[in-house]
Amino acid sequence: MPIETARPETLALHGGSWRADPTTGAVAVPIYQTTSYQFQDTGHAERLFALEELGHIYTRVSNPTQEALETRLAALEGGAAALAVSSGQAASAYALLNLARTGDNVVSSTDLYGGTWALFAATLKRFGVEVRFVDPADPENFRRATDERTRAYYAETLPNPKLELFPIQEVADIGRPLGIPLIVDNTAAPLTVRPFEHGAAVVVYSATKYIGGHGTSIGGVIIDGGNFPWEEHPERQPLLHEPDPSYHGAVWVEAVKPLGPIAYAIRARVTLLRDLGAAVAPFNAFQFIQGLETLPLRIRQHNENAIKVAEFLKAHPKVARVIFPGFATGEAKRRADTYLRGGYGALVGFELKAGKEAGRNFINALKLLYHVANIGDARSLAIHPATTTHSQLTGEEQLATGVTPGYVRLSVGIEHPDDIITDLAQALEASDVELLAAAE
Ligand SMILES: *Cc1c(COP(=O)(O)O)cnc(C)c1O
Repeated sequence: MPIETARPETLALHGGSWRADPTTGAVAVPIYQTTSYQFQDTGHAERLFALEELGHIYTRVSNPTQEALETRLAALEGGAAALAVSSGQAASAYALLNLARTGDNVVSSTDLYGGTWALFAATLKRFGVEVRFVDPADPENFRRATDERTRAYYAETLPNPKLELFPIQEVADIGRPLGIPLIVDNTAAPLTVRPFEHGAAVVVYSATKYIGGHGTSIGGVIIDGGNFPWEEHPERQPLLHEPDPSYHGAVWVEAVKPLGPIAYAIRARVTLLRDLGAAVAPFNAFQFIQGLETLPLRIRQHNENAIKVAEFLKAHPKVARVIFPGFATGEAKRRADTYLRGGYGALVGFELKAGKEAGRNFINALKLLYHVANIGDARSLAIHPATTTHSQLTGEEQLATGVTPGYVRLSVGIEHPDDIITDLAQALEASDVELLAAAE
């Protein structure tokens, strides 16, 4: 089919290399639960190992179920190639280690998922890769922190708890002439934000969240936009230009040229996945394919429900403030209008007037919403960061990341919106009852 012109709803079902199983005709992608693949003959094996021909050798590096997921994700995102891995954490680690080695640095937004923050500030540092954190409010901060050893820029498109859109185009435009790609984590806004249309070079996802969508499996994805001029920047990007001694001297920008603009994705697969081994299990890849097939439908409902929930909260007398891109003002609103399509995402933050204890009471009073440290499930979820995800930080540090004592984060699901609101309403009623009694 002329898939190039197809819309997201169609690509989620038909995009990529999969049509049907070549031997059985099975339409659903089978779980190819195999570690290895029979070579046709010695010549075939030799060509596969030399990357003269692409094919499966061993499931740590590639697998047909995984490949169906990867090619479909690349089609849906508008990228050239994708690499599925065993977690979102592995995806962000590989995305950077594919370009940076000891002595190099990366400039990253401060507004990050906690796990990413720990990876950048502690583990990559121990690897000798320095991550320089800058405030994304001013895109020029990225340029200011750049030097000749800067290999990449990194950010989340819609980071929580602040829920302010990252200036994708502005920062991509700073990096591109310098040979520095912008890598973005679009976990919180698949389809709603289209990073490649705004100049991002690489997109990473925790597939654990919206892509899987049902809270069953941990996984991650790196998507290569195929839109970055690596070959023009040999000094800036040595790992793609120097002969790779671990792959019989391959120069990645040259070695895979006949296969398309996928040097970045291939290198990540055949060196990092080969050596560090965070391969996604075929069963989990299958689960992500199931999730992907209904992603456009679910995202639409998530986004619609989130608007209703945000409006309900905004009008509620016990709520001091609602943090939601739809209510942004000034520069944050301009960014929201520029980068969001078809909704504002499904994360909604709000602050209870009665503060920290009320936040705790609110969470304890929920009956429908789950209290979990997760986002992107089809079910609605809630968490009180001050007593959980951000409890290790001092009060001051919490405020700097956007977490006030009464802040509650919701990941709005796809239940009927009235039922979500009914549960929120009763929990809000219960949130300060004891506090009021104690005050009397
Ligand atoms: C969950 C999450 C991650 C980490 O993904 P895992 O699949 O849990 O390893 C990274 N970034 C964001 C924005 C996330 O929400």
